[in-house]
Amino acid sequence: MTTHTRLLGVMGHPIAHSKSPQMHNAALTHQQLPYTYLAFDVCPERLPQAVAGMHALGARGWNVTIPHKVSIMPLLDEIAEEARVIGAVNTVVCEDGVLLGLNTDGAGYLQSLQEETGLDVRKQRILIIGAGGAARGVAYALANAGAEHIVIANRTRENAEQLRDTLSPLTEVKAVHLEDMRRWLSDRTLIVNTTSVGMAPETDVSPMPEEWLPEGVVVSDLIYNPAKTKLLREAEKRGCVIHNGLGMFVHQGA
Ligand code: NAP
Repeated sequence: MTTHTRLLGVMGHPIAHSKSPQMHNAALTHQQLPYTYLAFDVCPERLPQAVAGMHALGARGWNVTIPHKVSIMPLLDEIAEEARVIGAVNTVVCEDGVLLGLNTDGAGYLQSLQEETGLDVRKQRILIIGAGGAARGVAYALANAGAEHIVIANRTRENAEQLRDTLSPLTEVKAVHLEDMRRWLSDRTLIVNTTSVGMAPETDVSPMPEEWLPEGVVVSDLIYNPAKTKLLREAEKRGCVIHNGLGMFVHQGA
């Protein structure tokens, strides 16, 4: 590092589990770029100060993760089209002093899903569990790629309904409470967990009971730590094709 080294990073709370610093610093070293990437644990009430601090220190940009992807939006100068439609930001770039919010989650997820499973999204009847920041990016990308039908099941039904309203111009979408998802499982071809249920350190929980999982479908989990969540372990036992969040993580970061 020299006086020319510029700052990049990721803001979240908690953040200790993140592998972003390893991935980005490895890429920066490989490409011999004059940046360093750090992890910042920013509690929600300190987000405005953290954003102002990064700006004042001349950071080139940073990633944004749980729980700041939505709450950071009013703190930025401009929001790119996809991030505006999704309603969440996962990347901030500082361009000529202007803070621009982007969302690369959906495109990263789609690339990973297609590369690893070969699925044709246009033929899929999809259950998305969760309606948070990551769900918005993934659901938008799937709907925009022509998914046949999408059901969004979420603990807080109003959040699923909000997401449904965003997607309904793109495809047929239904919003249900998490407890009602069972009745929508029989004709699904792709199940995507976008909640944090099953993420380290609480790895012994799953967003649905094993016996609810349809046999032989594709089950995808955005979590990459652990590499095989309880949901994916149980799906594998039931003969499903499984897909984890590592590829999405790599592609959204790249
Ligand atoms: P978020 O905006 O906080 O949303 C969390 C979602 O999970 C909400 O739908 C929330 O429901 C639901 N949820 C949380 N705890 C729950 C529980 N105990 N039971 C049922 N539902 C629960 O978080 P996010 O940014 O979308 O991230 C979600 C997950 O995706 C995390 O595990 C994160 O690591 C992963 N992710 C992976 C990548 C990748 O590159 N692979 C990228 C982004 C995120 P409510 O609406 O009811 O609160």
